[in-house]
Amino acid sequence: MRLESAAFPLRPAWAEIDLGRLRRNLQLVRRDLPPPVELLAVVKDDAYGHGALDVARLALAEGATFLGVSTLEEAMSLRDAGVTGRILLLGERQEPELPWCAAHDLTVCVNELNTVRHLARVAARFGKRVPVHLKIDTGMSRYGVRWEEALPLVESIVSEPALELEGVMTHFAQSDEADKSFARLQQQRFYEVTRGMQTKGLQVRYRHLCNSGGFLDLPDAHHEMVRVGILLYGVLPSLVCRRLAGLEPVMSIKARIAAIQQLKPGDVVGYGMRYTAPARRRIAVLPVGYGDGFPRVRNQGAALIHGRRAPIVGGIAMDALMVDITDIPEARMWDEAVLMGRQGNQEITVRDLALLKNSVTYDVMTGWRLRLRRKCVNGGPECSTENHPQPHSGSR
Ligand SMILES: *Cc1c(COP(=O)(O)O)cnc(C)c1O
Repeated sequence: MRLESAAFPLRPAWAEIDLGRLRRNLQLVRRDLPPPVELLAVVKDDAYGHGALDVARLALAEGATFLGVSTLEEAMSLRDAGVTGRILLLGERQEPELPWCAAHDLTVCVNELNTVRHLARVAARFGKRVPVHLKIDTGMSRYGVRWEEALPLVESIVSEPALELEGVMTHFAQSDEADKSFARLQQQRFYEVTRGMQTKGLQVRYRHLCNSGGFLDLPDAHHEMVRVGILLYGVLPSLVCRRLAGLEPVMSIKARIAAIQQLKPGDVVGYGMRYTAPARRRIAVLPVGYGDGFPRVRNQGAALIHGRRAPIVGGIAMDALMVDITDIPEARMWDEAVLMGRQGNQEITVRDLALLKNSVTYDVMTGWRLRLRRKCVNGGPECSTENHPQPHSGSR
């Protein structure tokens, strides 16, 4: 019997990634967009924790033009895995990264003159005409050239024969709230730049402003492309934005019951003795803790077991949490519990956990640590990890 490390069984806790739902979400987003509007699928931070490679392959198969990532490492791991589609690196690049970008056809955002000049020299050295996207800061004060100072940078880019100004973009500070006034102001500032370009006869293939919130609620800001992240994973950016019917969360967090304890009245549970049994209680231990990214709660939250809610009792530990299963007498060792997702007609949403974590859905999704292996289900030929969950490499 050969017991190789590549084939050992998964721990009884995992993140399930439903690629069938991801595919449907991609189709719903694509179908909602007027056909000329292209889709950039944002797969930064390991596709919001879902596994960048499978998501990237599926997004390209479902018609995304670009993938969006944040770091050179994220981009290179896709290239190394054979992904040949267009990749846009969001944010700012250090000079030493630029040769890699040029060599591997990674499209960069340029935000300032030094990067423009340096990239032009690199491109010339590679004998390539390199497409770039100009990031305009219209009020978020993150990346980008301030809108009032953007036109001279546009002219510097177009004066470089080794560069092609393929896109101009901006990013909304608030696009998913009911009040769209700041988004509208940002849009107007953006148009100041594009009008200035028009006056000078400067053309650009892509104008892109919208994230998920903008895609849902600001259709007149779609232009040639939208950059969609969280929505692809089946989670709305906020509760007040437009709802796209049929979207479903792609990720669920699951674990199996790893111990059952019979408590007598007065028995306590967990570190700090935060729970005292008021009567006889039956407690299940789930082998998931804050070391996996679960919010560090005490006597708050629940798991779903046999389609019912089992409340968390006591404080959660690094590797375990305890739930009360007194009212679920059929629960047995190694039965499946759902910590995020649906079971029967019950659901624990990303938003429920965000409330427990006192944070936002984005933070919960990307907060699941990699020791909680990703198990893909309902994948097609694009799925690299179905039945063979890979230990993730990289820095997450
Ligand atoms: C992360 C990001 C997005 C995607 O945002 P969502 O709200 O997840 O759709 C779009 N554009 C930029 C520049 C980003 O950094």
